[in-house]
Amino acid sequence: MSLTLPTYDDVVRAAGVLKGVVHRTPVMTSATADALTGASLFFKCENLQRMGAFKFRGAYNAIANLSAEERRAGVVTFSSGNHAQAIALAARLLDVKATIIMPHDAPAAKRAATEGYGGTVVIYDRYKDDREVLATRLREESGMVLIPPFDHADVIAGQGTAAMELFQETGELDYLFVCLGGGGLLSGSALSAATLSPRCQVIGVEPEAGNDGQRSFRGGEIVRIPTPVSIADGALTTNLGQLTFGIIREKVSDIVTVQDAQLEATQRFFAQRMKLVVEPTGALAATAALQPVLPIKGKRVGIVISGGNVDLIAYGKTLAGN
Ligand SMILES: *Cc1c(COP(=O)(O)O)cnc(C)c1O
Repeated sequence: MSLTLPTYDDVVRAAGVLKGVVHRTPVMTSATADALTGASLFFKCENLQRMGAFKFRGAYNAIANLSAEERRAGVVTFSSGNHAQAIALAARLLDVKATIIMPHDAPAAKRAATEGYGGTVVIYDRYKDDREVLATRLREESGMVLIPPFDHADVIAGQGTAAMELFQETGELDYLFVCLGGGGLLSGSALSAATLSPRCQVIGVEPEAGNDGQRSFRGGEIVRIPTPVSIADGALTTNLGQLTFGIIREKVSDIVTVQDAQLEATQRFFAQRMKLVVEPTGALAATAALQPVLPIKGKRVGIVISGGNVDLIAYGKTLAGN
């Protein structure tokens, strides 16, 4: 099977589509983080993106690129997390109907947020129903277009615009750390890095419990694992996609892992030192730099903070812990 992988030109086109729609999020620095690591760290704050995560970029780009006929039919996706909210918001802005398939045990706050953005939520039983069968039925019955959370060329290109903005601001970097779930953000970021900072090493960061990406990268083929258990709920994917893996194996330098307790320490660091609310998954990339997992002393290092949609009760416990 031959696949057409998205390229940097697609990221440039996505930036045009997203202009004036997405926030150009700030790039922050921290003297404390620099002193701790001996490096110069540049944090791209996608926790301050619309709906609270970079996912809005890919979702909007994908829906904006649909034909008039596809837009009339509406879009469907399955997610209980940030992709659901991103699709709901992007669809509302583009006047397209969105249906989001969520598990029955999805947090009430996530369901409410998705409905608040105007999405229609369809609930399935995680243990009895097959969500893909459900999505296929909705597509066949109503002609709705499926927008998956990562393995889609327009989604990848849209996600790549965050790193593009970062490099435009910082110039070339030695390292770029990016969190890794299904690989939409990492593969899009790698496309931008390859053109805007060709010597930059792009590093994917996964929760240790869900290291399918690392195993896939090192083994040369997509490894599928059971749904991992980690507080990084945006990175609980079981496998990379065909497109995301195709780009990652070509353009990413390595994939490293961090532990949940380290993520919580990073969340506390962001709250206390940088006044940033960051969800556990959003802290993955920074954790690899702050530990540090790789020797970054003296280097210029980009870090994508991917999201800030915390569950307030869990977040309160994290902040109180030590
Ligand atoms: C979805 C998500 C990720 C993982 O992104 P992928 O494109 O699936 O790799 C990371 N952080 C946050 C906050 C997310 O919502």
